[in-house]
Amino acid sequence: MTRHISRRSFIAGAGATAAFPVRGRASSPANPDVIVIGAGAAGLAATRALRARGLGVVTIEASNRIGGRAHTDTSIFGVPYDVGAHWLHSAEENPFVEYAEENGFDVYEAPEEFDLYVGNKRATEEQAERYYAAYEAVVHSIARAGQAGRDVAPSVLVPDGLEWHALVHLVLGAYSMGKDFDAFSCVDWWSGNDGTDFYCREGFGTLVAHWARGIDVELGTRASRVVWDGNGISVETSKGTISAKACIVTVSTGVLAGGGLQFTPALPLATREAFNSISMGLYNHIMLQFADNVLGTSDDRYVHYLIDLQGDKPPRGAGLLTNVGGSALTLADVGGGFARELETEGAAASIDFARGELRRIYGSGIDRSFIKGHATAWGRNRLTAGSYASAEPGAFAYRKVLRQPVGERIWFAGEACSRHNWATVAGARESGLDVAAKVRAAL
Ligand SMILES: Cc1cc2nc3c(=O)[nH]c(=O)nc-3n(C[C@H](O)[C@H](O)[C@H](O)COP(=O)(O)OP(=O)(O)OC[C@H]3O[C@@H](n4cnc5c(N)ncnc54)[C@H](O)[C@@H]3O)c2cc1C
Repeated sequence: MTRHISRRSFIAGAGATAAFPVRGRASSPANPDVIVIGAGAAGLAATRALRARGLGVVTIEASNRIGGRAHTDTSIFGVPYDVGAHWLHSAEENPFVEYAEENGFDVYEAPEEFDLYVGNKRATEEQAERYYAAYEAVVHSIARAGQAGRDVAPSVLVPDGLEWHALVHLVLGAYSMGKDFDAFSCVDWWSGNDGTDFYCREGFGTLVAHWARGIDVELGTRASRVVWDGNGISVETSKGTISAKACIVTVSTGVLAGGGLQFTPALPLATREAFNSISMGLYNHIMLQFADNVLGTSDDRYVHYLIDLQGDKPPRGAGLLTNVGGSALTLADVGGGFARELETEGAAASIDFARGELRRIYGSGIDRSFIKGHATAWGRNRLTAGSYASAEPGAFAYRKVLRQPVGERIWFAGEACSRHNWATVAGARESGLDVAAKVRAAL
């Protein structure tokens, strides 16, 4: 039983580590000042802030719901299942925690302890000590490099081939960044905030949808092109062209890098480079439902296990969160290159993989209680093209480029634009508010 070392605790020297009514077309103005593309946390926050200041805003969303990557499903398992964001990170400063408490949601601190297994046995004290030592050594290497401004990949610094390396790689890479150790920058990693995590029993997506009640959004309206050649902006959408003075683009860098939204004339080269440089990681949930608490763990219990070393290949393993919210649901989350592999193989293969991992730890008896599973595929989702973004090695400077407007008419917002809370819902909201203030000042 221990805690993970966090980025900031390293510096502190602290040792170890639904559905709500949304729309009302009537109040979207015919000649808006601003068009907001995307109704995730960033677009919703920007919309509300601008409208509160009296600006005319049309917010369009390609899918048929708001929330984007923050969404809770209740239809698959009959209980809340966060298909995207689940952890309310940095709870001390996360406004969604306060909002939840004020609005009667059941939010609570995430237990940080975890069970550690080697095969089907609990790790011995000695094995656990070796894992903690390996984990600490890697965190310290990445943190030191990040702090020193070394914009390199962790793979450059961290020796592989050590007994617990694959698990450490999984926990700090795939499970946290959605990327393997060769695909993100130490400086970027270091720039991220962290702190205590909270859960919302009703689902983080449910909470976001509640927070966004009353914000008018044009659902089922996909933007295909932003034209900015004359004065102002025109956005071509699946439901016609809308013109305004400015536009806020909140779609992911994955969508932008993949050409899911076109710009005429083309955006400056540096901006286009930024879409590729602040690239999307992949992090997928594989959720397994059991009839009862067949794993015998406490609620929201993390389980880690020794993963076989596979040379320099991405670790083939999952981060387990058992008895999610006390619901007999268990998450087996995968990230990075291995998640990509599983996503290509499909949902059935992903579920088989997750069941196999649990079987190896808890025995085949778990099969008797198994009801069904579900696997997300955020990489194949063309409205996200990945899970969340981080800087490629050597590309940290592009974070700043992404935050710069183009022609004083096109602003980018969203999780990737947050300075310190990137890859989070709170960071997306913060970025939306930040950009809304700039747009208001510019107009
Ligand atoms: C599996 C997973 C787990 C995660 N876990 C956590 C977590 O535990 N905690 C946490 O805080 N964060 C987590 N995140 C990250 C978090 O969900 C995101 O950082 C955040 O929700 C992003 O918000 P956004 O507004 O920037 O983008 P989005 O939510 O992606 O919003 C952009 C919107 O634009 C829409 N769109 C795309 N293309 C178009 C178009 N052409 N026209 C119109 N609309 C378009 C999309 O449908 C989407 O609704 C997770 C994400 C995933 C995928």
